[in-house]
Amino acid sequence: MYKKAPMKKFFRLFFPGLYLFAVFSGCLYARPQAETEAPVEIGAAIEAPVPEPPAAQPLVFTAAESVVQGDIFCVLIQSPQTNRIKGVLADLSGGDGKKILSMTGFPVPPRATTPAADNADPADPAPETGETWAVLGGISSVQRPGDYTLNLRASCEGEEDTVFSTPIAIRGRSFISENIPLNEDMSSLRADPDPRKAAESRELWALLVKTDTSSVYHLDSLSLPVNGNFRETSFFGDRRTFLYTDGGKANSIHYGLDYATPRGTPVYASGAGKIVMAKQRVLTGFSIVIEHLPGVYTLYYHLDKIDVKLEQLVKTGDKIGESGFTGLATGPHLHWEVRVAANAVEPKNLLTLPLLPGAH
Ligand SMILES: [Zn+2]
Repeated sequence: MYKKAPMKKFFRLFFPGLYLFAVFSGCLYARPQAETEAPVEIGAAIEAPVPEPPAAQPLVFTAAESVVQGDIFCVLIQSPQTNRIKGVLADLSGGDGKKILSMTGFPVPPRATTPAADNADPADPAPETGETWAVLGGISSVQRPGDYTLNLRASCEGEEDTVFSTPIAIRGRSFISENIPLNEDMSSLRADPDPRKAAESRELWALLVKTDTSSVYHLDSLSLPVNGNFRETSFFGDRRTFLYTDGGKANSIHYGLDYATPRGTPVYASGAGKIVMAKQRVLTGFSIVIEHLPGVYTLYYHLDKIDVKLEQLVKTGDKIGESGFTGLATGPHLHWEVRVAANAVEPKNLLTLPLLPGAH
């Protein structure tokens, strides 16, 4: 209170002076500008130059020339303009024109355009403009090696569809053959007719052929679903013969990898994604399916415990359950499988190669 009176007095004296100074200095500042700068036409200053709309440049297609049984193959469709491609459909056809695979393309999210200063690479090109779509397919382990044709149709806004065809050779590889004797319980589990098995098989197939073009969760390589050096007891593409107790036999293909794991071993998500199945099934026991990309799924079978719920989003390495000994199994193990456009592919390849090569 005591000090306010002198301060008020000071401001009363000071402010009129400050106001006059501001007006004066404003005049001084404005005058040289008006004299030295060229007269500005108000209309020109407001109107930004309108760029010519870019002419539609041809789409660029990138595809492999050959693939091996069990490989993922990827076709990239690049447009210099954004928001141009509206849809992409593709198929792989044999020499007789018969389709062996149908695929639906999806838009790839733009890559990060602002790398952290520490990681900035001067050799890195400027952020790409335009847009990229991808088509992913999986080559079945039983697909006959030979020459095939990839046919692709891209629909663009206000343009004729762009059609692209290119030859793709499928090369063969070797697979293991094995006999698997089943005890009485497992023999009847596998061989006895059960409408639940057929219904569950149809349900899974309907899920695996689904391509939700907005389901883009994981572009990189996958991680092992178990920690530790567990023995692999079966491999991708094994040609199996089940031997029943009554002397009967049945041939089968093994679609994934088997890891011999003690019951209760934590099982982790191999990549980021959405849980699209988490339930008990007759033949595969407690089972989980994760969607990582449109048409790309990982499957986890014979679990003792499921820790996730349908529609739940998971990150790479999240614990999703525990391995076990449920369903058709001759011992405790985890069955891990990867599906692309409904076909099972070699999971080991994807521990080092990204799901979407060249796009990330
Ligand atoms: Zn298996």
